[in-house]
Amino acid sequence: MDMDTYDSVIELAKRRGYLWNSFEIYGGTAGFYDYGPLGAMLKRRVENIWRDIFVINEGYYEIEAPTIGIEEIFVASGHVGGFSDPLTECQTCHESFRADHLVGDVASNPDTLSADELTVVIKDNTIKCPDCEGELGAVYEFNLMFGTSIGPGSKRIGYLRPETAQGMFVDFPRLLRFYREKLPFGVTQIGKAYRNEISPRQGVIRLREFTQAEAEIFVDPRDKSHPGFDSIKNYSVTLYSDPAQSSGKDSVEMGLGEAVEQGIIAHQFLAYALALTHQFLLRVGVSPERLRFRQHMKDEMAHYAVDCWDAEILSDRFGWVEIVGIADRTDYDLNAHSRVSKTDLSVYVEYAEPRIIERTKVKPDMGKIGPAFKGKAKSVVDALNSMDAKNLSGDAITVNIRGEEVTLSTDMFEVRQLTETIHGENIVPHVIEPSFGIDRIIYAVLEHAFREEDVEGEDEGRIVLGLKSEVAPVQAAVLPLLTRDELKGPAREIESALKHKGVMVAYDDSGTIGRRYRRNDEIGTPYSITVDYDTLEDGTVTIRDRDSMKQVRSPVDTIADTVHDLVHGTIRFEEAGTPIA
Ligand code: AMP
Repeated sequence: MDMDTYDSVIELAKRRGYLWNSFEIYGGTAGFYDYGPLGAMLKRRVENIWRDIFVINEGYYEIEAPTIGIEEIFVASGHVGGFSDPLTECQTCHESFRADHLVGDVASNPDTLSADELTVVIKDNTIKCPDCEGELGAVYEFNLMFGTSIGPGSKRIGYLRPETAQGMFVDFPRLLRFYREKLPFGVTQIGKAYRNEISPRQGVIRLREFTQAEAEIFVDPRDKSHPGFDSIKNYSVTLYSDPAQSSGKDSVEMGLGEAVEQGIIAHQFLAYALALTHQFLLRVGVSPERLRFRQHMKDEMAHYAVDCWDAEILSDRFGWVEIVGIADRTDYDLNAHSRVSKTDLSVYVEYAEPRIIERTKVKPDMGKIGPAFKGKAKSVVDALNSMDAKNLSGDAITVNIRGEEVTLSTDMFEVRQLTETIHGENIVPHVIEPSFGIDRIIYAVLEHAFREEDVEGEDEGRIVLGLKSEVAPVQAAVLPLLTRDELKGPAREIESALKHKGVMVAYDDSGTIGRRYRRNDEIGTPYSITVDYDTLEDGTVTIRDRDSMKQVRSPVDTIADTVHDLVHGTIRFEEAGTPIA
């Protein structure tokens, strides 16, 4: 197979210390990747930009829950019962496959088919094992959670969490108090999630251990308007709606205000999450031309969700790939945990204006009921209280007490019309959830930053990782032109001044200057600083801009500030010194 961009990116990533196959010396296992020294730094920077947006700017505090969860959590959330993918095993080589992936060419909506339906599609279309052409077995649902046991003796079942979200839902009562019982509020978590994917053949796109960054925003279901909506209503993104997909139309570029007005996006809170997601993805370096928001089709959406949009990036090998899922999960999770844990997970919300309501109440007359029913009197009163008083006409009432019909004559109770003033009510919040797959985002950033280009006047082209300065692991390289002490001394001084400013700097004196520039282009270092003999004469150094390859001379005594400002984007390259012709 010819090398495609995926191969080139992964080859570069491995060679330069971004991504490595895990457990490599033991032959590795699909679905696990290590972040090498540069990869780990890139990942931290991307995560910190996410924190800047969601935690610092939106005020959604970050929490940290265990990565192992107890069984009850995942029973309640539905993962024990239904978090599975359809699996078929080759009867000859015993390799396992995602059945829905194998029928992609013959079925239009494979992920909506049941295991039995998939078995039929495979049989009817004589689909064989992609590896050995062997017969494929009956399809069954394979649960994707990694199970474990907690404590000695396997007494308690646990699972590695398949998403970080549940840890935030189960902390709801504590979070509610932390946020002083007021909606809306949001909480975030960045951490590992685990899914025992059936046959992960897409490198870093489908991992068995991956990092999620999730925000759970708890809102009042009666009002999903966002207080900051005005600030983003003219913000434009590419939307590929359900109706557009169903009718074979293209995606459209549209302002988020208009999208909500036209009912394309269900409400302001979701639209606001799309805007934040878009801003974040562009800031870390996803190309806006290769980014769109695709709405889930009706049959694709979780049954409880109101609306759901995926941020998708265009990749050379895999086409459009989901990197972020943004959903309105309604009150599904809180209701589920409330039911299973028997804990009230509602919020008391006060009305803007007190409401006056008419209520029909039935008032038992104990003086008559007591003597008439004796030991059963309390059960009779309870039955009376639990009746819907609206349906009572004032006639005699018959109630059922442990299988026995008991009749109360009209003198034993009174039906009254009451007027009450209500100040508020208890509601279960709805949850808006943007869920980011950090590893897929890292891959998107690498692929979109990767380019091979010709260099004028040179035979060999160059490979450049055009990373944004804010995410580039190494932000500046310091290069003495020659390995002579008189050049190495000032170069080391510059290195240490940059470190003092918090700039991640690499000192490099091995190989020709051309090779050192190429090396730094490949790892994405935005600026290289060269110390040469002119430095000793006039106190200036060369700063080279990775993308344009332009060079300026800049004074040594202010070099740390200059490079710091370049990296943080507070000055332009042209302002960093005097251009070299
Ligand atoms: P989901 O809960 O399936 O909507 O996943 C949320 C996000 O996590 C997705 O948008 C992906 O970016 C990421 N994700 C899900 N599964 C995997 C996986 N197996 N490997 C890497 N990232 C994943």
